[in-house]
Amino acid sequence: MIDPRHYRMRVDTNKCTGCRHCEVACSMVHNQDKVNYHRARIRIIVLEDRFLPLIAGPYVPETEECASKKLVQIGDKVYDQCIICRASCPNKSIFKEPDSGIPLKCDFCAFREEGPACVQVCASGALEIIKIEKEVEEI
Ligand code: SF4
Ligand code: SF4
Repeated sequence: MIDPRHYRMRVDTNKCTGCRHCEVACSMVHNQDKVNYHRARIRIIVLEDRFLPLIAGPYVPETEECASKKLVQIGDKVYDQCIICRASCPNKSIFKEPDSGIPLKCDFCAFREEGPACVQVCASGALEIIKIEKEVEEI
């Protein structure tokens, strides 16, 4: 099983086809096998010429180095994507639990023996779970 403090998701937009299977899988494993996109911790947004899988969290305090945003690769470049921070921010989160309004965070499917559901169903290999050296404190 995955300890979220030691892992980050690598997203390669060159490979994402926009199929949204990751959204379906994420919502199902967090919603008693029912599909509800509003409960997914991953969302596909459309950029000009490609799809960007946007993942909620984990939340990183301002004083900490953000490990998530540096792992977004678009074309040949790696960008600091503010939108990734916004997705993770407890105050401005765009991922909210529909009933309570509580911000949703990607938990790397730590409860699953098989690992992250989104990675498992992504046939194109756009999503990859990566172990990081530095432990990031979860809040
Ligand atoms: S499953 Fe993979 S290819 Fe399909 S939308 Fe999600 S990240 Fe992109
Ligand atoms: S790792 Fe799990 S919780 Fe995170 S986006 Fe993928 S399916 Fe959702």
